[in-house]
Amino acid sequence: MKNTLSLISLIFCFQGLAQGKSQATEIWSPTPVEVKTNKNISLPPEDAIILFNGKDFSNWEQQYSNQPPKWIINDDKSMMVVNGTGGIKTKDSYGSVQLHIEWKTSTEIGDNDGQKRSNSGVFLQGRYEIQILDSYSNPTYVNGQAGSVYKQYIPLVNASKPPGDWQTYDIIFNAPVFKNNDLVEPGYFTVFHNGLLIHDNVKILGTTTNVGQPKYEAHGDAPLALQDHCCTPLSFRNIWLRKLKN
Ligand code: MG
Repeated sequence: MKNTLSLISLIFCFQGLAQGKSQATEIWSPTPVEVKTNKNISLPPEDAIILFNGKDFSNWEQQYSNQPPKWIINDDKSMMVVNGTGGIKTKDSYGSVQLHIEWKTSTEIGDNDGQKRSNSGVFLQGRYEIQILDSYSNPTYVNGQAGSVYKQYIPLVNASKPPGDWQTYDIIFNAPVFKNNDLVEPGYFTVFHNGLLIHDNVKILGTTTNVGQPKYEAHGDAPLALQDHCCTPLSFRNIWLRKLKN
């Protein structure tokens, strides 16, 4: 009887210890900030910075000047590249961000193929490009197709929709860190294209370049840029971001 009681108390003792151990690793504070999301999750949550309001280019300027963009606003409240007028960039500068952007390639393809169909790009900090291109049944070099970290990483899958369909990028960009003009920590991209993972925390090799190997040049926070490459236009809408670090 005495031995049985000892065994029972020993079991309770072990249970207590086990519970104590699990509680020791529970974290209760600080609690994550509550953020109200939109019913349509591609629409901005309450803490988003809205970069394009569907009406004008008030948050944007030409990529290589402080002049207003020469792109146009469509009837459906999206913006459209006017080829030959140059890219555009945000007036404000950003570091690490979560970015949502929607884009639609042109149905007027003509004789254009490969890199000549609605070629654009999202340039984080004006330097690091996620390629935008009509890659629906339109072969090109794979490290330059839609979703590529241009000339650095091939997308894990081709999630492209046909010309005329709206597509989404959700980009997590961890900005590179520099100290005294030296690279301390490279940048990283995680990217979803139309909801599919196409880059899983890949290490950015340097500023995007079309010729030669990429390399880093020290910089601070910088504007987000959208490219006017060529040769058929494309449209953007619903562009917002959340800052990830101060
Ligand atoms: Mg491009």
